[in-house]
Amino acid sequence: MVNKVNYLRIATEEAFLTQDVLKGYMRLLDDASFQDPGFRSLWGFYGKHQSPRAKFIHESLLDLGAKRIADMDASGIDHQIIALTAPGVQVFQPAEASALAVDANDQLAEACRRYPTRYTGMVCVAPHDPDNAVKEMERGIKKLGFKAVIINSHTLGHYLDEPQFEPVLAAAEALNVPIYLHPQTPPPSMIKPFLDAGLDGAVFGFGSETGLHMLRIITGGVFDRHPKLQFIIGHAGEALPFWLYRLDYMHGATVRSQRYPFMKPLKHPVSHYLRNNVYITNSGVAWQPAIEFCQKVIGVDRVLYAMDYPYQYVPEEVGFCDAMTIPDADKKAFFEGNPRRVFKLDI
Ligand code: MN
Repeated sequence: MVNKVNYLRIATEEAFLTQDVLKGYMRLLDDASFQDPGFRSLWGFYGKHQSPRAKFIHESLLDLGAKRIADMDASGIDHQIIALTAPGVQVFQPAEASALAVDANDQLAEACRRYPTRYTGMVCVAPHDPDNAVKEMERGIKKLGFKAVIINSHTLGHYLDEPQFEPVLAAAEALNVPIYLHPQTPPPSMIKPFLDAGLDGAVFGFGSETGLHMLRIITGGVFDRHPKLQFIIGHAGEALPFWLYRLDYMHGATVRSQRYPFMKPLKHPVSHYLRNNVYITNSGVAWQPAIEFCQKVIGVDRVLYAMDYPYQYVPEEVGFCDAMTIPDADKKAFFEGNPRRVFKLDI
């Protein structure tokens, strides 16, 4: 039974998958020369495992039709902001990655045309093919009507603060659309202690790696070079809001000490960038203390609702968020006002 509420519930980190990208994942799993233990752990499970969880997610990701709409109706979700699931096309070599991105974007755009009041898309790109990524971002935003860019964290172990990705960042800033920095599994250079303990996935590995990535973007000076650029991160900000005080102190102290010659002073403390260039969704964290904490330290206008369908399709969790004892205006901003503004929705 879905509560009646006086706001639309707009879920902002919802995933899908195309048959062709899935086929590509299966081919990589069967290719012994493809050395990425995190990818093998994630897609070995969701692609091949016979457990009810793996099968439900596998089937739901591939559906952009009646099943997804029924799941949204059953949980009270009015609108989904949808993106190609992790790791997107970023595990493929550049030419194949860009071709798969174009096809996935076409399929998502077609679904958005079929259900204009229910779906909005994010454009998927291959950041390691920067010229084509920029072209595809322009096509996705200007022609297909998408409202954001999805990047599934690192690309084959490379991070967006590295110079080869500058054109992608500049294009997002020029197009005036946010980049959703979604997690994927830690790269081979980081994963061993996570994998040894079974903690490489969304349980903790995703958040550690994506929090690190977001922090590298900030400390690498990306927002001093692109002050209007906006990112979105999920999972209550991948724990960065909780770290904020210490990040400001220790980053400042490290820069002042000149401990690392490459670490240049920023125009502002780390916290400034989280409050001015980063939006946070609560995907996977339907928990008032964490949501309230993010609203308090980052800003009520910067925290957005997300379900993380189908990975965390738990209809009761929508009710937990409806029942939060926060001001009504803040709840409305969380579920509807902020998603409308950040994604420039015309629903
Ligand atoms: Mn997700």
